[in-house]
Order: sequence, then C-alpha cells, then structure tokens
Amino acid sequence: MTCPFLKETQVRYCRNAAVRKLIPLAQDVRADEKCSSEDFRSCQLYQAQPEEHAASGSCPYLCESLMQYCGAAPVTKFVPYSESLLSRCGNDSFRYCELYLAMAHPGQPAEDADGVSMPNWLSYAPNHMWLDVTDDGVCHAGIDAFFSRALGNIERISYVWQQGRHRPTAILTVDGVDLEVVFPLPFLLTKCNLYLRADPTRLASEPYTGGWLFEGVPEPDMSAHLLRGDPARAWMEREEGRMSEFLQRQADTPGGLAHLADGGLFAPGVVRHLDRDQMLALFHEFFSPYASGE
Ligand code: SF4
Repeated sequence: MTCPFLKETQVRYCRNAAVRKLIPLAQDVRADEKCSSEDFRSCQLYQAQPEEHAASGSCPYLCESLMQYCGAAPVTKFVPYSESLLSRCGNDSFRYCELYLAMAHPGQPAEDADGVSMPNWLSYAPNHMWLDVTDDGVCHAGIDAFFSRALGNIERISYVWQQGRHRPTAILTVDGVDLEVVFPLPFLLTKCNLYLRADPTRLASEPYTGGWLFEGVPEPDMSAHLLRGDPARAWMEREEGRMSEFLQRQADTPGGLAHLADGGLFAPGVVRHLDRDQMLALFHEFFSPYASGE
C-alpha cells in the first residue's frame, strides 16, 4: 500500500541546463515557450550545442520523466518514480511519517481484545511491545495499548542507543520513576522517534502510530518469537485477567487497589496509584524483557 498523499506527475526538463528545473506537464505552457516549438533554434542553450539533424517541432534536449511528490508537504519536491518506491512513501511505512500523521489524523484501529486496541497487522512480544515489518525491509516497534494504558501519560523519554544492533531500549519516566523498556529481540536500529522527546504524551494517545519508538532492519525469523492474530488476541485477554489478579493481590495493602480493576479493564494510568515498590513489581511482571505472559 502506498501513502494516500503520494502523487505522481509527468514533468519536462532541459537536458542541457546547468540547473535542472522540472516543470509539471499539467502546468500551463507559456505562450512564449520555446522548447516545444520551432523557436527552440533561437535558445542560447540549444545554440551552445546545436544538433545537425534536429527534427522539427520541439528541441531534442527537451526530456520528459515520471516523478512523484508528497501532496502533504508545504514545498513540492519531485523524486524519480523508482526512488519513491524505496522510501517510506511507497509502502506501509508511510503510517509512521509525521506529515502523514499530521494531515490524515488516523484514529484508533478498530480491532480490539476486550477493549484493548490491537491492530491485526502487528506482531506482539510477551512484554507488550509490538513489531511491524513492512515490504521495504524496515521494521518499527513500540508499546501496545495495554502497556500505554497502564502507564498513562509519561513525563520524559530517553533512548539508550539511537543506532546499531541492539535490543532497542528507551527509558520512560513515570511519576518520577525511570522504567526501562526493552524490545526483547535484537535488530539493527536505524532511528528512534525523537519527536516523542518533545511530546511524550503521544506514547499514550497514539501507541501504534505517532507513538512508535524504534525503526530498524529486522532480523530473519523475528516473527517466530512473536504472536499475531487469534493467538495474540487470546493472550491479550489472559493478560487482562492477570492484571486484575495482580491488583486484587495488592488489595490487602493500605489503601487497597481492587477498585482499579473493578468491572473489567484496569483504570488508565494505573501505575500512578501504586507506590514505588508496587510499580516496579507490576512493571517486572508485565513489561520487562523477561516477562513471559504466563
Ligand atoms: S512524505 Fe509522508 S505524507 Fe508525504 S507522501 Fe511520503 S509518507 Fe506520505
């Protein structure tokens, strides 16, 4: 699938010009334009290298090419058709482009498991992180809606590495406590979502789009260690039950916490109702790279 903002157009340009100026064919041709008429013989650029057997009609240096451009960008920049297919615009990676997100405002995905949204094109790790591998050989990873609901709004995000082969790691600060979020499988990290440093609330409000954390090159067989489709949905439902049980177990502590999971899904930002030790215990149970989902 390509980005809905990716447009294409035929352009013309002069092969002899020092600076290549691309003119869309759809644009009105000026009445005094020389290139596509017999007047090309009076052009200085043509005269610098005249062709002996030039056909009549239009200049032999006038070329046409198919280009693509982003219809959402404030300034139009043409790229050759073949190049745009290699960029995020020409495949499913467009879902993580800031311009696309700003213009399209994609909502929460329709698919969910008992109230926790869960897009079916993603794979899920036992510590509630998702992975999306797209046709261009690029992957994106982030935290799922269960994880982001438990955290609520975070105060700060830092990345441990921004490049190289690692288990990608970010430090999220919630209620003054630093929590280490680690994708459990290593891959070649090429980029982190630095926009989140300016606006970390997107991690909670858009966990599957603008709240992505890591971009990189996937390793073979990564998907074999992750869950998708019906098994992922069944696992998520079990996780909701496990969270209720965890909060029930804290009910004996002063203040009690059972009410945070009363009637089903736990309350948004549940970790903020816990003391530091309880928060770390919950994090270790569900979101550490050693979480097994059991
Ligand atoms: S730059 Fe972004 S919005 Fe524009 S075409 Fe590419 S993916 Fe779409």
